[in-house]
Amino acid sequence: MGSRGYGMSQSGIRADATGGDASTLTGRCLCGAVRYRCGPLLYPATWCHCTSCRRASGTTPVGWFTVAIDSLIWLGDAPSSIGSSPGVERRFCAICGSPVTYWSERRPQEIDLTLGSLEEPDRVTPVDHIWMADAPRWDRPRDGLPQYPGLRP
Ligand SMILES: [Zn+2]
Ligand SMILES: [Zn+2]
Repeated sequence: MGSRGYGMSQSGIRADATGGDASTLTGRCLCGAVRYRCGPLLYPATWCHCTSCRRASGTTPVGWFTVAIDSLIWLGDAPSSIGSSPGVERRFCAICGSPVTYWSERRPQEIDLTLGSLEEPDRVTPVDHIWMADAPRWDRPRDGLPQYPGLRP
């Protein structure tokens, strides 16, 4: 993915209403065993419609945001992992199964996190749809955002 002018703030994150560091994001899985802190965003967030995300989450699309891997700190249990494709590691809570991260050896210094795991999901808004070539017929967004057959051009 590339960073472009999507008309968002530089970090892509809205100010934190609680007065904390505006670039810090926190999240957790459903049961709360896995917790994290990370940020700031490296790119605007996206909706991914790929087959692997669909199977890993049980639904489609999956919202993702990206941070520097060094910024991610696990606050609770470390999540379990599965190699979903060559060079790709997906992490999820071993207890409740919530998908939490996606990492690829093609972008080793970055890590993607699920929008749905954020404590305050309204702080990050996806700007486009990727991997529409994999989307089932019933998965056709009408939100006006750009749709790409694969990765961002
Ligand atoms: Zn959990
Ligand atoms: Zn995907």
